[in-house]
Amino acid sequence: MSDYFDEKESMTSEMRLEYYNRKLSEMVRLGYDKSERIKMMFDERSLSPADVQTLDDLEKLPVISREQLIEIEAQDPPFGGFADKKADIERIFTSPGPVYEPHLGSDDPLWARAYYAAGFRKGDVVLNAFTYHMVAAGLTFHGGLNRVGASVVPSGSSGTQQQVQLIKDLGVNGYTGTPSFLMAIIKKAEEMGHDFKRDFNVKRASFGAEPLAPSLRKQFEETYGIDTYQMYGATEVGDIAYECSEKKAWHICEEVIVEIVDPETGKRLGPGELGEIVVTRLNPIFFLFRFGTGDLSSISVAECPCGRTSYMLNGIAGRMGDAVKVRGMFVAPSQLKRVSEHFADRRFQVIIGRSGHRDTLNVKIQSTEQEENLEGLKRLFDSVFKEICTVKIDTIDIVPAGTIGDDDPFMIDQRDWK
Ligand SMILES: [Zn+2]
Repeated sequence: MSDYFDEKESMTSEMRLEYYNRKLSEMVRLGYDKSERIKMMFDERSLSPADVQTLDDLEKLPVISREQLIEIEAQDPPFGGFADKKADIERIFTSPGPVYEPHLGSDDPLWARAYYAAGFRKGDVVLNAFTYHMVAAGLTFHGGLNRVGASVVPSGSSGTQQQVQLIKDLGVNGYTGTPSFLMAIIKKAEEMGHDFKRDFNVKRASFGAEPLAPSLRKQFEETYGIDTYQMYGATEVGDIAYECSEKKAWHICEEVIVEIVDPETGKRLGPGELGEIVVTRLNPIFFLFRFGTGDLSSISVAECPCGRTSYMLNGIAGRMGDAVKVRGMFVAPSQLKRVSEHFADRRFQVIIGRSGHRDTLNVKIQSTEQEENLEGLKRLFDSVFKEICTVKIDTIDIVPAGTIGDDDPFMIDQRDWK
């Protein structure tokens, strides 16, 4: 298959690096000229545009969190000095905070890569149930669907009964919005006496703004015959990554530079290491370098059979505040849940402690009634854990059945930082 939205998706790694460095240095030069905030940030650090020319140079700039952006914009409204004041801004969105985001009516293929990879094309009629009111979602997703040729029904946050009516009357064959809202629409249709799969034509759905639980995905695909895809973005920086038909890791869009960063040092982490997703959107009006999303993920450098050559994100492992840092590496509850899926009938608990100046990580695994190969179990657990969490276990103890309760947490942090 060589079916891409454009040729950028299959660049060689050399072309890709050259492309990113060139776009980044252009944005740095423009930002230094047009944005008061960027000039100030560079001057404070005794940096000139010549010092930030490559992906590696990005580490010289600070990561800016959503909270910091809100504060900076509040001090210097509306855009915190990040925007080119003279730019031809087509529309201004807002998101809670408030954060204000200027958008150009540009040729940026915002969300089009995601919809293309999900199979949306000319002739499709797609219900867009993302809200259109004030926030970027409705209009930007709408634009992405238009760019791949689909017709859009801008149903936004209309009630479920009206959405059912639109699906029925307009022969809607695709949906975009949150997964929970699509399920609410399906339930409403059933309540109204329809058989959703038999009576309607919805065959494809692209979800965003909310995680897609594997059980819900299975239900959409198996019970309702809807092919489902996930898209990931942030309102401050637009689209970031999306699933292709392989539905494994998520391809990173060519319009953004994504780094996985250690929040304490601001340094970039290597492939497979869990850290904060930090995004720079390559654009000529809003010079927000290194936006910290607060979401956790890791980079996959595996080759995707679809032929796209981008780096990929291994889904979202949760929010930064929910994870615990062990020996400099994040361990997130979602990772432990993935570990547990390999040991379906067994409870386990991870205990984080500290000995001397080193974090310790010990695991208790509950034995079952009929015990078998304990050393084999320990070895298997050790390797599954290391693969998913990338942190090494110090000790594994097998504890008697009934020691770990069903409601006990997967992880206990016993470290005392006083
Ligand atoms: Zn792919």
